[in-house]
Amino acid sequence: MFKALIVDKDEAGKTHAAVQDLTLDQLPAGDVTVAVDYSTVNYKDGLCIGPGGGLVRNYPHVPGIDFAGVVDASDDPRYAPGYKVVLTGWRVGEAHWGGYAQKARVKADWLVPLPDGLSTRQAMAVGTAGFTAMLAVMALEDQGIKDGPVLVTGAAGGVGSVATAILAKLGYQVAAVTGRPETADYLRALGATQIVAREELSETVKRPLEGETWGGCVDAVGGAMLARVLGQMQYGASVAAVGLAGGANLPATVIPFLLRGVNLLGIDSVMQPYDNRVRAWARIAKDLPTDRLEAMIQPAVLSDLPQLGADILAGQVKGRVVVDVNA
Ligand code: NDP
Repeated sequence: MFKALIVDKDEAGKTHAAVQDLTLDQLPAGDVTVAVDYSTVNYKDGLCIGPGGGLVRNYPHVPGIDFAGVVDASDDPRYAPGYKVVLTGWRVGEAHWGGYAQKARVKADWLVPLPDGLSTRQAMAVGTAGFTAMLAVMALEDQGIKDGPVLVTGAAGGVGSVATAILAKLGYQVAAVTGRPETADYLRALGATQIVAREELSETVKRPLEGETWGGCVDAVGGAMLARVLGQMQYGASVAAVGLAGGANLPATVIPFLLRGVNLLGIDSVMQPYDNRVRAWARIAKDLPTDRLEAMIQPAVLSDLPQLGADILAGQVKGRVVVDVNA
């Protein structure tokens, strides 16, 4: 028997989440069974745990879109028992049971070996949000980051915290946008050199082009803020669009693309090919200072998850929630 957070739907279509006991034969099919050490709380997890059920494709369901742990049993020669692994993406925690359990069974192709220098706890302090932040930084680097500070929106959240720490470690001036002024010291400790109040970028676009300010941007917010930021980019600079915490509509004009050559780069962490995932995890192990990673961690256990799911949807989680599934 092992413990898991199960989300189920009642006859009225309402979802309920509770910690329950499961047996190994209840796990979905897969090549590799993992003894999970840690999982995390991402925005998508909030949607999956929450009352609407969000992105969940089958009930009962074990959410948790990422996990890190140790291989227990394997039909795949790449992953012998004892091997440390990390998983993000592939609709795990949405269409296939995920990481909010002491055991998970998945396809071997979805796993990545834990990179040298990272513990399973550190890997989940990074988690899907941090992995995506690294993909965003790599996409900006591929296009070339221009002079001027790099803007990070939703900075006190998961993607934003990791993006801030990585960009600062790489030597960029980081302007962190937050709606929570009380997180300013936290963001400065991660390496932000400038704090921008959310209100400053929340107004709808009045002029399609403003002063050329930002040398690049990692955007976790989308919506009106992204539209505003597009008109403030340096000539030829790029925005890596990661999320929509502030809304899915983009009330923008084409002018920043036409007259400033701005690039809007879409970042998807879910379907990344194996080689890209390995490359991004190697960069994380190299470019994310562990003391700053430690500063982002909010520890949690399985029974905390229903509340934490609601908190992340309300934009109230700071940094990264690391769930010790065995505590
Ligand atoms: P978090 O909730 O941890 O962070 C989001 C942050 O956005 C909040 O902390 C808050 O930052 C800010 N925010 C929240 N609501 C608003 C609002 N209404 N207006 C402006 N800012 C707001 O989530 P994550 O960092 O985990 O994820 C961020 C986004 O990225 C989500 O939309 C998520 O779905 C997406 N995502 C996409 C991935 C991909 O593959 N493309 C992978 C992972 C995440 P502050 O308090 O500092 O203002």
